Amino acid sequence: MRLPLLVNADHPLPEGFEPALLAPALPGSEALLEPDCAAALLALVRAVGGEGSILAVSGYRPRCEQLALWEDTLKARGEDFTRKYVALPGCSEHETGLAVDLALDTGGKIDLIRPYFPYDGVCGEFRSRAAECGFIERYQSGKEAVTGIAAEPWHFRYVGAEHALAIVSRGLTLEEYVELLTTRRSL
Ligand SMILES: [Zn+2]
Repeated sequence: MRLPLLVNADHPLPEGFEPALLAPALPGSEALLEPDCAAALLALVRAVGGEGSILAVSGYRPRCEQLALWEDTLKARGEDFTRKYVALPGCSEHETGLAVDLALDTGGKIDLIRPYFPYDGVCGEFRSRAAECGFIERYQSGKEAVTGIAAEPWHFRYVGAEHALAIVSRGLTLEEYVELLTTRRSL
């Protein structure tokens, strides 16, 4: 089984990295994702009856866009906030096309940096079935020291069902899981 791609401040993507193919994150969405990730997201949203209420706010971002987001956030919200919630350019999972930020459509304005995606209702249902469709909640509360990013209840990463179920059943971050897989031959 191939290791999931690990991207963080210590594991930047190679310069010029871009996904080979991209597809709309959800039908009608402007956000794009790697096609397997997009198909899994649609299946999951449909499985929980979330069509129309679960929105894909952000998917693939080229590095230039991540850089612009970093600089804009720095200007608007300051360095502490930016370091907590925006990955460094070159070090964002959004540059892989395998990560998506989701929002519950409440009819109001969507916070693009910290979208509202609660733990109950259709979003709770989404969370409870995410791993079987290959997604993990990537930046959890209590794991900030490991991931280097503040808790982000809206950010989901596609790793495939086998990895996702193994990660969730063990309560690990992707960092801890990849470490475990690379230091032990099998789980
Ligand atoms: Zn995100």
